[in-house]
Amino acid sequence: MGRLNGKVCFVTGGGQGIGRSVVDAFLAEGASVIASDINQERLNELPSSEFLKTFQLDVTNGQAIARAGREFSNVSVLVNCAGYVATGSILQCTDKQLDMSFDINVKSMFNTTSAFLPAMVARKEGSIINIASVVSSVMTAPDRFAYATTKAAVLGLTMSVARDFIADGVRCNSISPGTVDTPSLHSRMAASGDLDEARKRFVSRQLMGRLGAAEEIASVALLMASDEAKFMTGSNVVIDGGMSL
Ligand code: NAD
Repeated sequence: MGRLNGKVCFVTGGGQGIGRSVVDAFLAEGASVIASDINQERLNELPSSEFLKTFQLDVTNGQAIARAGREFSNVSVLVNCAGYVATGSILQCTDKQLDMSFDINVKSMFNTTSAFLPAMVARKEGSIINIASVVSSVMTAPDRFAYATTKAAVLGLTMSVARDFIADGVRCNSISPGTVDTPSLHSRMAASGDLDEARKRFVSRQLMGRLGAAEEIASVALLMASDEAKFMTGSNVVIDGGMSL
């Protein structure tokens, strides 16, 4: 018996990085998965399986999200993974960057949750998992103004949804990773001009002396999605190799 047998799971940002690992982990535990991503090429690289559907979706497109909610009305696990890292302090942050950060990191979760929650409430079963970050209201990092602001909002959004739907059988939790080795981290390190030096700098923030693996974050999502975590709601699980200690 897989830990997610019979569950239908919708994942945003499922084409690569943490989202991709969530898709793999959920499939391995018997779930039916709808992997969505803005990037169709990444979706095409997912393994073919009768339990996997792919769905191209930009999480800033509220109408498309509402359509997805109608099309997949049997979803009982929603993983909000798509995210965006803006660099800079408040003095470098433009209006456009702040709007984009809120649109991709927060309003996306407002829209997906609004789209999938009513059917979960009707069935009295649901688990919503929001990927936040340890750089939020947990701790800060230099030059992450818009990112930290929006990820802190994710923790508030998570607790609010958890509180309002606790009696309806719907749980809502967040995961706050530290630095995780994913394609987007790789691009940020490469953009610094010196990949090795940037990697050393990122690793030095982790008291464990290494970056996290996307599969390690997916393991926490798997627990939250499964019935093993049915007493867990409104929680934020920090998984950061000691970054915030
Ligand atoms: P990643 O860039 O490797 O993967 C993100 C995926 O989201 C990509 O496939 C991308 O195409 C998709 N995506 C981007 N914009 C989208 C949009 N508008 N609509 C739909 N899909 C979109 O990123 P990752 O490092 O795996 O990060 C995943 C999540 O984890 C993000 O929310 C990120 O903030 C969070 N996180 C990452 C780290 C880290 O160190 N990697 C740490 C803490 C939190």
